[in-house]
Amino acid sequence: MAGWGRMCTPPEAAPTDEDMTGAPYRATLRCIRGCAGEHSLLTAIYRCPACNDLLEVAHDLDVLRTRSAGSWMRLFDERYKRTTWPYGSAVWGKKEWVCPDVADDNIVSMDEGGTNLFWAERFGREIGLGDLWVKLCGNSHTGSFKDLGMTVLVSIVREMMQRGAAIRAVACASTGDTSASLAAYAAAGGIPAIVILPRGKVSTAQLVQPLANGATVLALDTDFDGCMAIVKRLSTEEGIYLANSMNSVRLEGQKTVGIEIVQQFDWEVPDFVIIPGGNLGNVSALGAGFDMMEALGVTARRPRIVVAQAAAANPLYRAYRNDWAFEPIQAAPTQASAIQIGNPVSIDKAVHTLRRYDGIVEQASEAELADASARADRTGMYHCPHTGVALAVLVKLRARSVIASSDRVVVISTANGLKFTDFKLGYHQSTIAGLDPRIPNTPVELPNDYDAVRGAVAAVTGH
Ligand SMILES: *Cc1c(COP(=O)(O)O)cnc(C)c1O
Repeated sequence: MAGWGRMCTPPEAAPTDEDMTGAPYRATLRCIRGCAGEHSLLTAIYRCPACNDLLEVAHDLDVLRTRSAGSWMRLFDERYKRTTWPYGSAVWGKKEWVCPDVADDNIVSMDEGGTNLFWAERFGREIGLGDLWVKLCGNSHTGSFKDLGMTVLVSIVREMMQRGAAIRAVACASTGDTSASLAAYAAAGGIPAIVILPRGKVSTAQLVQPLANGATVLALDTDFDGCMAIVKRLSTEEGIYLANSMNSVRLEGQKTVGIEIVQQFDWEVPDFVIIPGGNLGNVSALGAGFDMMEALGVTARRPRIVVAQAAAANPLYRAYRNDWAFEPIQAAPTQASAIQIGNPVSIDKAVHTLRRYDGIVEQASEAELADASARADRTGMYHCPHTGVALAVLVKLRARSVIASSDRVVVISTANGLKFTDFKLGYHQSTIAGLDPRIPNTPVELPNDYDAVRGAVAAVTGH
């Protein structure tokens, strides 16, 4: 019975002997180029006032070090997927490492993270890899890994509003997963959300989530960049809080994906992590999570990080092949629509991460990403096109023996395949322009006749 009592108490309230009760955990925003000055996470500031470059969140590691690595691991394991609110969320279960500045009462959480990390045995065997794992981040509230960061951003907004900040609404320019996530978390928190989209360039599936959650959806006669320019102006002139990934507070939630993977392996670090990249905030966040574990003694080695890009939208791949000299490009259409970005906002952060994580960037053509996704589906998965890009890149690196047969590899699957029905259907019905699918599967249409069915079954089973 004593055990139950403990579990129902927030771990902070039940300090262990190693716990510094009421430790003043601190995180601030600072310039990625090192300009002087710190800014509270509870300020609406997105760029360095001195040099206009991006900001990043810096945690006070000395305070965090007052708890031992073992004690952090135990604390995170105790909280993991329990129902003690908000710590059962795998993002807020690591609150001290993520965003200590928000009162628990202001947290807007719908149980983020804690997604399945499964052994992809059959697909791995097909490519000569015995230790392949898929981290299914799309099994989340709005169906993509964007929820990991959005819970942090919206909670910060609620904390700011509660302290009297004049925020009229939260807004983003997006065509897909970011707008779905923003709309859901803002609705849960009772905060008005505005989603700005290019008119006629988004599908019903991409529109329906923000509409259903009651966001104000503004469809403009422009492209994504045009929408972005307008939302940036709203955020500087109108008291509207910006939810695009230029706002680095989201990355604090996103960074938990790497920590959670290591936690799920009983605090062991895999050899490779492969992640699809577009605006490149997430690869930077992945590195930040590994950095923090290393700095606090939880891990003693680093994985190699691989960014997978669609060949149609490959500015990071080009930079990688060119000594990291970056040039924005015009991204061409790709099935991997969430990473169709030619001028990634977090390019500098991403290069910094990849340099330190022995990084690799590889690309996949439309045919490669579609076939890799279909091939993995044949082994029981059901992947979004972005994960298809990551899998195609995995196949290439394994074929070249960059990845050895004994390596432990994790592929980060970023969205739920169920959000991309048009892609799946188009593949199997061979209706995607310019694509000749290798393993389409279509229904066999038959008359209402037993022998016809028997014949069709025999054609498959050989009897
Ligand atoms: C946002 C997103 C990505 C890419 O993340 P970046 O931080 O923009 O690189 C990949 N896959 C899906 C499904 C996404 O929604």
